[in-house]
Amino acid sequence: MRIAEVHVYRVDLPLNGTIYRMSEGSYTAFDSTVVRIVSDTGVSGWGETCPVGPTYQPEHALGARAALQHMAPGLVGRPAAGPRQVRRLLDAQRNGHNSAKAAVDIALHDLIGKAHGLPVCDLLGGAVTDRVPSYCALSPGDPDDVARLAAEKLAEGYPRLQLKAGGRPADLDIETIHKVWEATGCTRLAVDANRALTTRDVLRIDRDCADIPFVLEQPCNTMEEVASLRGRVTHPIYLDENTEDLNDVLRAISLGICDGFGLKVTRLGGVGPLATARDVCEARSLPQHLRRHLGRRHHRGRGRARRRHGAAAPARGRVVGGAVHGPPLRPAEPGARRRRARARAGRPRARRGARRRRSRRSGRLLRVTDTRRVRSS
Ligand SMILES: [Mg+2]
Repeated sequence: MRIAEVHVYRVDLPLNGTIYRMSEGSYTAFDSTVVRIVSDTGVSGWGETCPVGPTYQPEHALGARAALQHMAPGLVGRPAAGPRQVRRLLDAQRNGHNSAKAAVDIALHDLIGKAHGLPVCDLLGGAVTDRVPSYCALSPGDPDDVARLAAEKLAEGYPRLQLKAGGRPADLDIETIHKVWEATGCTRLAVDANRALTTRDVLRIDRDCADIPFVLEQPCNTMEEVASLRGRVTHPIYLDENTEDLNDVLRAISLGICDGFGLKVTRLGGVGPLATARDVCEARSLPQHLRRHLGRRHHRGRGRARRRHGAAAPARGRVVGGAVHGPPLRPAEPGARRRRARARAGRPRARRGARRRRSRRSGRLLRVTDTRRVRSS
């Protein structure tokens, strides 16, 4: 089985009617990239990479698509049997660009799983549970409002909460943590500053919230700043943004500067590298939250998956055998979301799960899978 085609799509990923705020920015939609790989036997696999806006990651969406357009022609004709082989091939073409390589890695795992009739979890060693707890990320806001929303989300069924912090006076973050704790008593709580706190403010938050159990997630910008907190704070520290590749995970573990990780599949380069990081963490008894960078992920409430069609009809570029066929990659047309909403109003509600859509421009059948709107990273 060999790779016959590589397709790259730009996908507009709107949030579910809200603004997603982190310390470094506010967003109502994200620019995501979907990759489809088709084998010479007709089996196809899908992958996706989404950098969560221009300031969350060093990578950005246009860069991922540019890298894919350069790398994809070299994949055509290569065996589709081993993602690791393909990863070496991609590394030989481009240094870095983990987010772009992740989309290929994910698509290949999907393709190989389908070809062999196996779920991807079996390719990665097998599932150890049939339930995966999700969490709800709460943007910074008025402390009373955040506390009320936190109670609502717990009542909806979320077992975990993540409070975004940083980018504002530390007093507000401290007040928010106290009010959420008083309103919910949630013991599975993370305070995620997305790199934005100074060590001084981390020490204040740690001291002023000493009796409240939570994890401090990526409190400061650099691994060195986080390392300087070791032994000075009482709350456990997880690294997130500082783990840009496997070497960063190994460095943090060897230096002993954190108590766990929030690992992103696209930041590390795909499910293959993520599984390696998972195994290394397991060997050192370090917990990891394995997360996608938005894209289509579960958003559970009241015990049932809420699936919504959050992706726009993708503008398409098709890379086959070194040539680009079809229209170039471009953003969705102005007003496209409104037209789609009107069209949806006249159609029956989409069934849960995979959904097939026919491209209005080309008439070619596109499959847009599992398109739920999301609001956390
Ligand atoms: Mg985080």
